[in-house]
Amino acid sequence: MIVLKSDDEVRVMRRAGRVVAEALQRLGERVAPGITTGELDRFAEDFFRRRGAIPAFKGYNGFPASICTSLNEQVVHGIPGPRTLKAGEIISIDVGAVVDGFYGDAAATFPVGQVEPEVERLLATTREALARGIAQARVGNRLSDISHAIQTWVEAHGFSVVREYVGHGIGRAMHEAPAIPNYGPPGRGPRLKPGMTLAIEPMVNAGGCEVVTKDDHWTVVTADGEWSAHFEHTVAVTADGPLILTALEEEAAG
Ligand code: MG
Repeated sequence: MIVLKSDDEVRVMRRAGRVVAEALQRLGERVAPGITTGELDRFAEDFFRRRGAIPAFKGYNGFPASICTSLNEQVVHGIPGPRTLKAGEIISIDVGAVVDGFYGDAAATFPVGQVEPEVERLLATTREALARGIAQARVGNRLSDISHAIQTWVEAHGFSVVREYVGHGIGRAMHEAPAIPNYGPPGRGPRLKPGMTLAIEPMVNAGGCEVVTKDDHWTVVTADGEWSAHFEHTVAVTADGPLILTALEEEAAG
């Protein structure tokens, strides 16, 4: 069942989303050669505590850190630790927080220093795929219109979308119905209604779409070792169009 949120609840989710957005921005400012993923995690945890927010991922199914840090061929769910970032790499940072009982969830992939043009193209394509998915989060559309817009954009640029991991409804729980695949034909699934709150999150591989989970039981990597990017926003469907809850400033999409 899809839980619709009242206007008041969406306002609380906007506050949670703003904290997540600011954390992600500040983390991005810290991404540079020489910093460790563990240092980024500690920064995020301190930031959330200072803001009165609870890191959503810490302890989730036993996840040991406050953020996910996924490097290069890592797709999602990488565990922060002693690994030092090097110039030319990419890091996907996934951030979730709880404010007054509601979750916000967002992710972005950052270049570490200068990266190859083809890597820049992967990041730009994934960021734009998210924007195109969000633009479909409109009253009267069907859920898979989001999925289709993402897949079409990604594949037109020669990249592939991950199948095993998908976006999700979000609210008082981090993962609510519906599941939001980043692929599929348009015009399927539930009709979008005001008060639906959705975490839309294309995971895009430079090579094939297959992924495998590493021995740490968390880190998901591409099967072929090619690099992967991940962008995510939490979005509310409103009568006025999609409202990005994890934006720093008020921002209507599309
Ligand atoms: Mg998510």
